[in-house]
Amino acid sequence: MCGIVAYVGHRQAYPLLIKGLKRLEYRGYDSAGVALLNADGLKVFKKKGKVAELENELKAREPLATIGMGHTRWATHGEPNDKNAHPHYSSNSKLAIIHNGIIENFATIKKNLQKKGYEFRSDTDSEVLIQFIEDIQKETGATLEETVRLALHEVVGAYAIVIMTEDDPTQLIAARKGSPLVIGIGEEEFFFASDATPIIEYTKEVVYLDDLQIAVVRNGELTLQNLDKTTQIPYIQKVEMELEAIEKGGYEHFMLKEIFEQPRSIADSMRGRLNAEDALLELGGLRGYMDKLADAKRIVIVGCGTSWHAGLVAEYIFEELARIPVEVEYASEFRYRNPIIKEKDIVIAISQSGETADTLAALELAKSKGATILGVCNVVGSSIARITHAGAYTHAGPEIGVASTKAFTAQVTVLTLMAIAVAKKRKTISEDLYRQLLIEIDTIPAKVERVLKASEKIKEIAYIFTYARNFIYLGRGLNFPVALEGALKLKEISYIHAEGYPAAEMKHGPIALIDEDMPVVVVATKDSSYDKVVSNIQEVKARKGRVIAVVTEGEKQLHELVDFVIEIPKTHEILVPLLSSIPLQLLAYYIAVMRGRNVDQPRNLAKSVTVE
Ligand code: GLU
Repeated sequence: MCGIVAYVGHRQAYPLLIKGLKRLEYRGYDSAGVALLNADGLKVFKKKGKVAELENELKAREPLATIGMGHTRWATHGEPNDKNAHPHYSSNSKLAIIHNGIIENFATIKKNLQKKGYEFRSDTDSEVLIQFIEDIQKETGATLEETVRLALHEVVGAYAIVIMTEDDPTQLIAARKGSPLVIGIGEEEFFFASDATPIIEYTKEVVYLDDLQIAVVRNGELTLQNLDKTTQIPYIQKVEMELEAIEKGGYEHFMLKEIFEQPRSIADSMRGRLNAEDALLELGGLRGYMDKLADAKRIVIVGCGTSWHAGLVAEYIFEELARIPVEVEYASEFRYRNPIIKEKDIVIAISQSGETADTLAALELAKSKGATILGVCNVVGSSIARITHAGAYTHAGPEIGVASTKAFTAQVTVLTLMAIAVAKKRKTISEDLYRQLLIEIDTIPAKVERVLKASEKIKEIAYIFTYARNFIYLGRGLNFPVALEGALKLKEISYIHAEGYPAAEMKHGPIALIDEDMPVVVVATKDSSYDKVVSNIQEVKARKGRVIAVVTEGEKQLHELVDFVIEIPKTHEILVPLLSSIPLQLLAYYIAVMRGRNVDQPRNLAKSVTVE
């Protein structure tokens, strides 16, 4: 959600900022802008729409400067338009800010400033902050750094900010609370960004800013302070990410690339953890916490969107194998009630970005109530990864498409490994089943490869349903969350209304919707609920619904009954979601492409939802 990129050094800042903003486009945004400082002063250029539109407008007069900052805004306060786009000037136009997040007490601060005669050029909360900083500067005469600190003391809410001043062409000031910010350290140059993607082609050395820290770059030097003024030593880390991982590599869209990467990303999520031949399984990040997990009275899983669906899959698997009661909650609900957390409860947060604001807050709440909190995240060094007691990275590699695909299957893989490891420790599964599961999960990447071979066929099916207005997705058991996830994928990127249901629930309501125009996707693999699902399909067909069924290779019965069949290889029942979710990703992708949608950046959506 929203992108920040800033630069100070010896290169031309403008092209670097534009490129950086494009790398951050996947996060979702509605307007873009840059601020540059040169001998002509501090200049702001901003515009509603895509970064390319801003670039187009500035083509004729590419601003020259070696310091600048850029922003892609995802509007929270004030509609998406030119004036609300960032950067925002202060009143005297000597200061400018870019901001990600929400200043919750902006209205009170704004009222006070208005009483003093300040006028506002936008409806945003962000402009209020920079005006407030200018006001404190006037009142106190303090340095900019000190002024920013004083202002942030008064701020309630979440922010990642970068501030520039016309008075110093070597200075950038940044701070964060609740929204991510990474500092890249090059040779006599510094970068600030919401994540490392705009930075890695210039330097691999980064510092992750912590909450309530202020970073100042001045005269080629970086200093870090806490809001309480204690100086911090920057902890420089190396990012592993390679440039090619964030480029399309010949695919038409990131989403398609990421769907096709799944044989590798699933294998990566198991690498170094599983040795099927010797029946060895260990998740290094959970070392020291396996006893607690095995001893847990209850596991609560929190997440949002696709991660919540991965949690539902995990619920079935943990309960089935490890016999520990599991509850799966929307993080946004969990955080605002008074959840009952007992000492032996374990709370697991699932988040691709590791920055999801609701999930982060849910974890903080659980931690404050004494729970052991664990994380399953994709982004290394993210906020969730840092506040949890322990966890397991999904290692799916950067996911740029807003609609999650490979991150979902990697989450499910890691959670499955966790459940198997806990079950083994608790002795709730036999040695035989343990070995069988390890051998079988090891074959999943190759089986995913086989599922992907059906892509042309799925494309043909997609073509037939391009203009459908509604879709129903059905599944039972472990395929119920798969149905939910399939429906979510379609909604997100094609804007077709889609609902997922447990197949048996259909007759309690949704069946009323079924007629000859209603496509129904049924995940009907050969498992313990297969016969029941076949009956559910009969019910749909009896009402002339058009059924697309995801079935297990070699099954015959459904070929006769349904309109379209997509086959997936046979596997152990608990591993089916890793295969059955993939045709549904492809179906959503092709339908969205055929409808001419912006698949990688669907409207209104953000990749990493850093506001609640
Ligand atoms: N709250 C700010 C605004 O609406 C920043 C939003 C963002 O994170 O992009 O302008």
